[in-house]
Amino acid sequence: MNRASPGEHSATPGDAPGPPRPGTPRWPKGPGDSVTGALAGEAENAEGVLTGLALARSSLDRATVRRDDEEWLAAAWADEGTRVLVLDGAQALVSFGADGAGLVLVPPGRAPEGVRFLLGVDEAGVVYFAVAGPRGGLKAGPLPGPGTGPEQPPAPGVRPAGLREVGVLLGDRDAGMFTEAVALANWHATHTHCPRDGTPTEPISAGHARRCPADGSEHFPRVDPAVIMLVTDDDDRCLLAHNRSWPPRRVSILAGFVEPGESVEHALIREVREETGLAVTALHYVGSQPWPMPRSLMLGFRAHAPGTQEITVDGEEIAEARWFTRDQLRAAVLTKEVLLPPPVSIAHRIIESWYGAALPGSW
Ligand SMILES: [Zn+2]
Repeated sequence: MNRASPGEHSATPGDAPGPPRPGTPRWPKGPGDSVTGALAGEAENAEGVLTGLALARSSLDRATVRRDDEEWLAAAWADEGTRVLVLDGAQALVSFGADGAGLVLVPPGRAPEGVRFLLGVDEAGVVYFAVAGPRGGLKAGPLPGPGTGPEQPPAPGVRPAGLREVGVLLGDRDAGMFTEAVALANWHATHTHCPRDGTPTEPISAGHARRCPADGSEHFPRVDPAVIMLVTDDDDRCLLAHNRSWPPRRVSILAGFVEPGESVEHALIREVREETGLAVTALHYVGSQPWPMPRSLMLGFRAHAPGTQEITVDGEEIAEARWFTRDQLRAAVLTKEVLLPPPVSIAHRIIESWYGAALPGSW
């Protein structure tokens, strides 16, 4: 089994690091000044589940009952008050300011041709669509690879950007819209033909399904569930690992895809054992967020490895794994011996919730 890690740090092109803290975006000055900060109290709910995960936010009513209402959809598209998010691959135009960022939305009359998705309706009744426009239409370049992003605040102005870069800078509405639109666009781009007979399929249901004109079969967007887990030992040390496909010094918690016919709990126990040789117990859920690069749903957990167990990395996917006390992690981060995942990732938030305070993370 050599399926790539589902991770938020996969070697697929990503873009620049973004600062943490949905809601009050600003740039960290350095270690200890990460914005995800102020974790106490407001970052978890009463059940210990993480709240405000960057890509788990949304404020629109998805209006699922309208997806097959052609009359309503036509009227919404004809309304100049409707707003459209135009995608160029996985990027959209973003307006960067001193206090965050916002998507640049256009009226339907200014949207290009392309597959159209109904994203939802806001409280004021404004309808939002996305259009997967032509590649290069926004003059968006290739997304930079992991580790190549600038560690400085983005310059003010308007330019194309991707979710990794702006996920934490956007407000709830925009973060949710962008995440949904990229997930749908990725699916349409890669599921163009009927898996039964190879006929090109056509978008239906306002971009939320495709139908084969030859046999009438309907096909729905794919989401790949993945578990991501922070493992602790009897001394409450945290297990962090380096994946061979990541940039040097990048470490994170373990993750893996849930396989067909497998429960989430089984996947977690299996992945930890395969990657590190550890047997874990006491699993508990800590939150989830979509990671549509290209189609993962990250299911976050904590787990415990009791007793004295030896770490044996698989050597194939995981190159190195070790325990960190909080003091050791702080020191390693300050000296840049290790680089933590970006604040937009659920991994970052889970590590911070164990650590108990803000930590810097970057690409
Ligand atoms: Zn077919």
